[in-house]
Amino acid sequence: MINLIIRLKYAIISDIHGNLEALESVIAEIEKKGVDTILCLGDVVGYGPNPNECVDIIRKRAEVILAGNHDYAPIGKLDVSYFNPWARSAIEWTADHLTQSSVDFLIELPLKIDLDGFTIVHATPQNPEEWNYINTIGDAALNFPEFNSQICFIGHSHVPMAIYVTENNEHRVSKKNPLKIKKSRRYIINVGSVGQPRDLNPKASFSIYDNKTNVYENFRVGYAVAETQRKIRETQLPEFLAERLAAGQ
Ligand code: ZN
Repeated sequence: MINLIIRLKYAIISDIHGNLEALESVIAEIEKKGVDTILCLGDVVGYGPNPNECVDIIRKRAEVILAGNHDYAPIGKLDVSYFNPWARSAIEWTADHLTQSSVDFLIELPLKIDLDGFTIVHATPQNPEEWNYINTIGDAALNFPEFNSQICFIGHSHVPMAIYVTENNEHRVSKKNPLKIKKSRRYIINVGSVGQPRDLNPKASFSIYDNKTNVYENFRVGYAVAETQRKIRETQLPEFLAERLAAGQ
């Protein structure tokens, strides 16, 4: 049973993908912001060169941790045929390098949790185990009926985004940051990716939701991209996984 009712200020992070430099930068930034609780929406491993180190930090620092598709695949809970060739070779590399302790941890992670007035899930509230994406208003419209709380925080696409539905059932994208959460609206919010941003901004993404002031804000923080790239190139991971970090794609 999880009890977080008294907590007020949440840092929400997702898609770390074994990128230790990005995770350390994000944690340092979160520490400056007086956050009570860190929530992790999954994909702690996969793609990056430091999966075990990231698992160790997340299990110590985050109070609630969900599974992503890249957490389930290297431990055999998800078929690798689902993935593109780069992802697949990263999953195979990760599977070869995870410690037993990391495997034991990842295997227990849940897919979706309702917390203090909001829901968290890696991919979609509708059938989270299918790992679909919410990229458009149409995708979001299908998913609003699939959770009961006011806000659903997601990851998975690595692109920060907020879509809301009005009292008249109109669906809209919000570009506001910070974003004031209005009582009459419901929201699906993607917090972006710590370790492999794909919105052409290479800086690590994380978010803070303050449920006392009802303000959500997405933050970006730089990290030692060249160091992560150097480590990727020392492994058998695909070169593309190093290149994409500098481009944020
Ligand atoms: Zn991911």
